[in-house]
Amino acid sequence: MIITVSVKIKEIIEKGIDYPWPRPEICLRCRVSKVWGHGHVSAWFDGFDEALDLRRWRCPACGCVIRMKPRGYFNNFQASIETIRSRISHRLKTGRWPPGLLYTRQDHWLRALIKNVHSYLGNQWKGRLTEAFDRLLEKGLIPVTRSI
Ligand SMILES: [Zn+2]
Repeated sequence: MIITVSVKIKEIIEKGIDYPWPRPEICLRCRVSKVWGHGHVSAWFDGFDEALDLRRWRCPACGCVIRMKPRGYFNNFQASIETIRSRISHRLKTGRWPPGLLYTRQDHWLRALIKNVHSYLGNQWKGRLTEAFDRLLEKGLIPVTRSI
């Protein structure tokens, strides 16, 4: 299970494993037990030279492992939601990607977006993909994932 928390990535890098992540009051799955610290897991984010140590917790009652993630990022994406959205929007307007990130990676985002828009919103959104991106977000979906 992943919880999104408002944290400053810079501060996490500075403080490393000493960063004071907020501890969930109770296990979010069974809602019975207090969670225990369960180490950290490394994750990379665009624009930072170091991997981040993301805090993990574990519920002694049900065994659920809870991982924390900075707000503004999709699960398993290194680029921020804002970055992905603005790059796709630029690509749709100009026909080319802005420089700075691998084109293949961005092509994957766009292809996944087209597929998800088709599956979840329908063909009438084909010409309004940036809007459709927001619409999928509102529905709680990750617009650029290939595994919804
Ligand atoms: Zn539990």
